[in-house]
Amino acid sequence: MKVPSNNLRVVREYYQNLLEPLYGKQESVQLLLILFKHFFGYDRSQLALQPDLKLSESELLKVHFAVKDLLRHKPIQYITGESEFMGYAFLVKPGVLIPRPETEEMVDMIIKRFQNRSPLSIWDLGTGSGCIAVSLALSLPQAKVKAFDLSEEAISLTKLNAQRLNVDISLQQTDILELRPTERKKIDVIVSNPPYVRQSERHHMQKNVLDFEPDMALFVSDEDPLIFNQAVANIGDKVLAKDGELWLEINEALGKETAALIENTGFKKVQIHQDFSGRDRFVSAVKN
Ligand code: GLN
Repeated sequence: MKVPSNNLRVVREYYQNLLEPLYGKQESVQLLLILFKHFFGYDRSQLALQPDLKLSESELLKVHFAVKDLLRHKPIQYITGESEFMGYAFLVKPGVLIPRPETEEMVDMIIKRFQNRSPLSIWDLGTGSGCIAVSLALSLPQAKVKAFDLSEEAISLTKLNAQRLNVDISLQQTDILELRPTERKKIDVIVSNPPYVRQSERHHMQKNVLDFEPDMALFVSDEDPLIFNQAVANIGDKVLAKDGELWLEINEALGKETAALIENTGFKKVQIHQDFSGRDRFVSAVKN
């Protein structure tokens, strides 16, 4: 790649042409806008008003390497180090799952159900970037929120996200498959978006996910695909107060199986909820 000029308009056109075959016109425009905003702070109207701005060599290099990364399917969120969730900017990095828009729907349902309940205690099992835990803490200020994750990186990122967004949450680095909580019947809500994609479903997934996102946050074995759901339900059975609620994001192909497992682990009113594309994506249940 050799850029013909350091004039912003020419640079934009040049990289637009490189990105288009992979991302299409509209998405390429968006991606470049995100990069120019991230690296130089220019927004769309500034770019339109000052098309003849000049980029320095080092500025040009930043765009150059970012576009190279995009061309090998690296998610833009890992390039900028940020991802939006529930309207907030969360820090993300390789090793931690990028928040998904479906997950916002689950957070929304939980906020609606619990906004008038106080006091309120919430556990998020397998928190990743902390997007669920931190968003709930922001929208339910009466809640005490605790987030768990096996990954040290995830825990430190969640801590940073909580600090940046100004909420106080507790953290515990632990394997939820090994967690044997001593708190009994105290917690009001358990929420989890655990790994749930079966290894055999890998071939349906995009390169940007497979090549860049952490396997440990995504995949389960075909032999025991509900292992995390069972662990989360077991923990819920111990720590949830009577009428406390369990909320899980699930594999769309395993709604019935997940619902049955939860019912058999001491829960009632088990409900499957669809996401915005009509897929069985969440299960909620009430502790017996
Ligand atoms: N929905 C995510 C994906 O398909 C998976 C998230 C998860 O495993 N918890 O990329």
